[in-house]
Amino acid sequence: MKDFQRKRVYDADADVSDGKLFTFAGVGLYVQRVLRSKWWQKRCAIREIELSTKTGIWYDADRKSSKRGFIRIAQKDEGSWTERDIVHELAHVFCKPSKDPDNNHGRHWARAYYDLTRRYRGKQVARELVAAFLKHGVRCEPPPNLKELF
Ligand SMILES: [Zn+2]
Repeated sequence: MKDFQRKRVYDADADVSDGKLFTFAGVGLYVQRVLRSKWWQKRCAIREIELSTKTGIWYDADRKSSKRGFIRIAQKDEGSWTERDIVHELAHVFCKPSKDPDNNHGRHWARAYYDLTRRYRGKQVARELVAAFLKHGVRCEPPPNLKELF
């Protein structure tokens, strides 16, 4: 599938704070916390995410189930997974049930990434993300309400 703004998204991510660093177990706990939150449960049907560390980049794969997500995380040194990358991958899982036509890093995905960042990382980081989206030309649909942030 076409991934028209992947490079722009990766460039934008490089301008956003890493946030906390996590061990593999810590990534699991973070993901659990998000899945159990009311905010997530109101908006997404996925209730379980399997984590695996095989080589390669992070991605989600289980396309058969509407209740289960899958995140593969890159092999890294223990304790070096960033909060930014966790939320980025959660946005892929979050977006999938909607069958976003321009996923992986399309406009609807970018909006989901923004919403998750705002909810789980806070206003300050959401502001950084919007600034980075604007700088690198990442498109969001619907666009975030900037008045809420600035
Ligand atoms: Zn991605």
